[in-house]
Amino acid sequence: MDAVEQLYAYLDGELDHSTVVRVEAHLRRCSPCLEAYDFSADLRRVIASKCSQSMPADVRSRLLGMFDDPGA
Ligand SMILES: [Zn+2]
Repeated sequence: MDAVEQLYAYLDGELDHSTVVRVEAHLRRCSPCLEAYDFSADLRRVIASKCSQSMPADVRSRLLGMFDDPGA
């Protein structure tokens, strides 16, 4: 399982306690992963509340930026 898959599993509450501790420790010292985590958490909040009419502007721009990224 790579770091991003662990982040998704972490968000889904699918990790065992020792892995949660490792992921949280990693997030504290690795800003790229923390940004990926923040983005995923934002995205899930948007999906969870999709009956609300508008997406927060910062989330929307990050989402659009992700689709524009040729490396993604
Ligand atoms: Zn990392």
